[in-house]
Amino acid sequence: MSSTPVLPDPSTEPPAFADLGLRPELLAALSALGYEEPTPIQREAIGPLLAGRDLLGQAATGTGKTAAFALPLLQRMPDERPTGDPVALVLVPTRELAVQVSEAFHRYGKDLGTRVLPIYGGQPIGRQLRALDNGVDVVVATPGRALDHIARGTLRLGNLATVVLDEADEMLDMGFAEDIEAILEHAPEQRQTVLFSATMPARIDGMARAHLTDPVRILIAREQPVAGEAPRVRQSAYLVARAHKPAALGRVLDVESPTAAIVFCRSREEVDRLTETMNGRGYRAEALHGGMSQEQRDRVMGRLRAGTADLLVATDVAARGLDVEQLSHVVNYDVPSAPESYVHRIGRVGRAGREGVAITLAEPREHRMLKTIERVTGQRITIDKIPTVADLRTRRLELTQAALRESLLEDDLEPFRVIVETLSDEFDLMEVALAAVKLAHEATLPGTEETEEEIPQVAVRAPRETRPGSEARGERRPARARTSGTTQVFIGLGRRAGVRPQDLVGAITGETRIRGRDIGSIEIADRFSLVEVPIAVADEVIAGLRESTIKGRKATVRRDRDTGR
Ligand code: AMP
Repeated sequence: MSSTPVLPDPSTEPPAFADLGLRPELLAALSALGYEEPTPIQREAIGPLLAGRDLLGQAATGTGKTAAFALPLLQRMPDERPTGDPVALVLVPTRELAVQVSEAFHRYGKDLGTRVLPIYGGQPIGRQLRALDNGVDVVVATPGRALDHIARGTLRLGNLATVVLDEADEMLDMGFAEDIEAILEHAPEQRQTVLFSATMPARIDGMARAHLTDPVRILIAREQPVAGEAPRVRQSAYLVARAHKPAALGRVLDVESPTAAIVFCRSREEVDRLTETMNGRGYRAEALHGGMSQEQRDRVMGRLRAGTADLLVATDVAARGLDVEQLSHVVNYDVPSAPESYVHRIGRVGRAGREGVAITLAEPREHRMLKTIERVTGQRITIDKIPTVADLRTRRLELTQAALRESLLEDDLEPFRVIVETLSDEFDLMEVALAAVKLAHEATLPGTEETEEEIPQVAVRAPRETRPGSEARGERRPARARTSGTTQVFIGLGRRAGVRPQDLVGAITGETRIRGRDIGSIEIADRFSLVEVPIAVADEVIAGLRESTIKGRKATVRRDRDTGR
């Protein structure tokens, strides 16, 4: 995108959070979190939601959709609360998401005193009952457990002003369609309904038509790259768990050895934290964010241009208008919140015919957003394996070899001749050379590989929307060819015991750390069921299921004999 304007045009400057009409307490919370500007979905959704409109949004994880609905919900909380019954209900597919979304509400609404409660299967019901009894403002729940509480009369929906269906396609895939319908029947007819889904299959459309009134429709803005102007940029991504990202970044940088790199983070906080971490790991990293003065920014840029810094860690806002000629690599520390942002970021390399590299560190859950970016840009992002310690060692040797070759081509070796001649009286020339290479190698690249930590590789899986099971209707997900890296778990209860896919998914996500989307095909036979799960978590799934009950019964649980290793 060599024609992308480098300097921002003030007339097209995106709105700030304050322009969206948010109240000061929320603006203060966002500023404390280091969010510099709204993401595209937030820009489009917050206004209409504050105005009370229904909304149908197509947005994947990583777009900032949680804040897009949480901020307006928090702002619209009535000051006077006659009863302790919730005014908002957010339905989510999994326990992890219930916890994440509740935490987001806490973070954004801490100055408003909003009471938020996550409720999901697998959590002791007593604690939920007490919390509900004390009064809550927002309930974030998985459909099954929400329905349990509604049936018990402990979750009363009469006061609801807003219902949010988050990751609706995922909920339908997990067989929650009927539960959702039943829940909505208990909600007041006069209410605001918000539906977010990463994909828009016909079933979601039908659901929207049935439950949303004149909704605002939002699809993340898509900027089409201009044909023929695609930058010469090698694009790759690494799937890595959040905890291993700093190590993965270091490893990738070591192997890539960029001339200069810019690493994009979502918030100022992250910029500061990562700069510190990378400096601690021996990189010369500099932070650049919107909270810095012009003078500070100029100093940072000066160090990058002079080559005394090799890594710039920045937010999008801070990097706007930045043009560094030496830049060879752009790293997305997170998947950008919108394809347009990705395009803009990687437009910083591969200019004027130079080669550039764009690297994205994606959490497994962000895999789908990567696919969206590929679709929109029409360019391929290869998913690579994080370089291993052995790869790193090979790469370091290559670098030393290249440095030696360069040195051999220069004409300044004479002063060292005397050393080689003296030593060659005593040692073989080859051995002298080897010792010299070792010293050179260690001097330029301290031998840190012994202390290099292992970075677990995350299996790549097919994007969900192309998986055959995803359009199946609630009852049963058909079997499909097994993805590599998975195994099947045998559960000794089946159709005769009334087991449905959602019972199995609920029991697994309720008892383990794995998310519904990580569960593969589910086959339910008369007397047993088979569930496909990643090998890495199979033991945890088995242990969790043995501890719990399915449909009120204990079941035999083990690896399936045909597939288990
Ligand atoms: P979500 O798509 O809701 O799962 O959000 C993805 C991540 O982006 C979360 O870690 C949020 O904290 C973060 N986030 C959301 N909105 C913003 C923003 N405007 N600026 C920076 N980070 C954000």
